[in-house]
Amino acid sequence: MREEIVHCPSGRWQSIMIGMSKTWSILSFAASLLVACSTMGTQSATLPVLPTATTVRVVQATPLPTAARQFQPIPTTQTAVTTLQGQGCAREPVQRTQHLVDATVNYPRRTAQVSQTVRYFNTDSAPLDDIVFAVEANRFPQVFTLDEASIDGAPAPAYELTGRRLTVTLSDPLPLGCAVTLGLRFHLTLPAVGDGIIGHSGYFGFTARQINLGHWLPTIAYRADGGWITHDVTVIGEQIVSEIADWDVTVRVPDTPLALKIAAPGTMNRPAANAWRFVLTGARDFALSMSTHFEMRSVEATNGTPVEVFTLDNTRVQTDQGLLDAADHAADVAARSLAMYSDVFSPYPHERLVVVEGDFPDGMEFSGLIFVGAGWFEQWPGTPQSYLTIITAHEVAHQWWYANIGSDQALAPWLDEALATYSEYIFYEEYYPELRDWWWQFRIYSFVPDTFVVTHPVDADVYQFDNLRAYINAVYLRGARMLRDLRELLGTEAFFDWLAAYAQAGTGRIVTPDDFWSFLSAEQLTQIAATRAYYFDGS
Ligand SMILES: [Zn+2]
Repeated sequence: MREEIVHCPSGRWQSIMIGMSKTWSILSFAASLLVACSTMGTQSATLPVLPTATTVRVVQATPLPTAARQFQPIPTTQTAVTTLQGQGCAREPVQRTQHLVDATVNYPRRTAQVSQTVRYFNTDSAPLDDIVFAVEANRFPQVFTLDEASIDGAPAPAYELTGRRLTVTLSDPLPLGCAVTLGLRFHLTLPAVGDGIIGHSGYFGFTARQINLGHWLPTIAYRADGGWITHDVTVIGEQIVSEIADWDVTVRVPDTPLALKIAAPGTMNRPAANAWRFVLTGARDFALSMSTHFEMRSVEATNGTPVEVFTLDNTRVQTDQGLLDAADHAADVAARSLAMYSDVFSPYPHERLVVVEGDFPDGMEFSGLIFVGAGWFEQWPGTPQSYLTIITAHEVAHQWWYANIGSDQALAPWLDEALATYSEYIFYEEYYPELRDWWWQFRIYSFVPDTFVVTHPVDADVYQFDNLRAYINAVYLRGARMLRDLRELLGTEAFFDWLAAYAQAGTGRIVTPDDFWSFLSAEQLTQIAATRAYYFDGS
């Protein structure tokens, strides 16, 4: 998930600047970070107030003429059967959700007009009266406007949009195993990527040189225990839970600027000079980034997966080794970590991995695409002892701990963040074993040393935190310490057998902490019980 830019143990930025001997632009970037650190790295930092969600409720009333009312047929079993067959229940095998998207982007105005058709199968245990979408774009005010909601081509009887939750009332209950086709037409007025903690959300929005569309398309909410799960918004962490789905997305950019490139995962073709079509299967989301400044380089990981790195024109840095291109290093780290995690955890499922230099101060993962913040490219000192290395390996790890193996990011954020952070370590262990101690010191102990005063357990949910630093210390960093201790107790071979079994069983699913622990034997669970208790409840 999101990474912190605020990483300020005393002397940290000084040592970076001495090591880099950089140009003025680097110095000014470091100075801006110091400002961020002084405001965000303290326990007393306050979070920005989120706008109150408004509700848009539309009831598509089509009153019948008085004379006709008495003739309306009462639904019968026969009607129900007709409806079921009409939706193809008897003939159509249940599939995962399919999204067909046609979006027209006005690049200079930073707006988009979107038509999204969603084929959804009821795999729950009972008929459904409504379908709930998670509309992440609607957590920003005046950004998302829903123009129309339809069901099987006809206007939906009613729909209600509050914050990120859109409830569409079905015309008829959707029987188990049956499908419904929902249509959404909406337009987006993209937000400017802001300063401070809101800048962390720069994966959705625009800057002078980039448009980022991450979590721009509504997804079907996760269904659990007979209800639709959407979590409240907070600026800490992520709160989205999404099943995997298939995506077929066409992006049209009329009057396309010649230099425009679109970075997006899946297979790509160009149905017209101003159109890009992407097909991505088995993905929790579909994200893209576009820029007229992009340079792209492609390398192949040793498992054969192409890794494409899209960078802005600012990645050549003067280092102690001379002029180097940070984009080459990011490509190398992404390709090597992808191949390694594929070997250690489970196979990478997509055609390509796309790495995008995000014009915002954070990293962020999506299925088949990751963002790594521009500052980490600009600051790169020319060595693997850098945030560019750490964050790239971290975001690639989320291709497993989020994208392949889904979990509830709001209620159990440790399940992906602790594993993604520990995966950074095993990347260093494999490729830079001489930097193992450095990683622990720099990444972990400088924030959570042995004397660290614990404020939250590793398994705290995102709502228990009021500042980012405390969240990262508890969930990411103490989470990594917990995994290290578990590995010491179980032994390296058993530890990685456990992670691989968990990854392979969890691929394509949404798993719980119980699922994670269930891949240990009773004997192993006893062996680690005290350590688990220590990190989870401090006992
Ligand atoms: Zn993360």
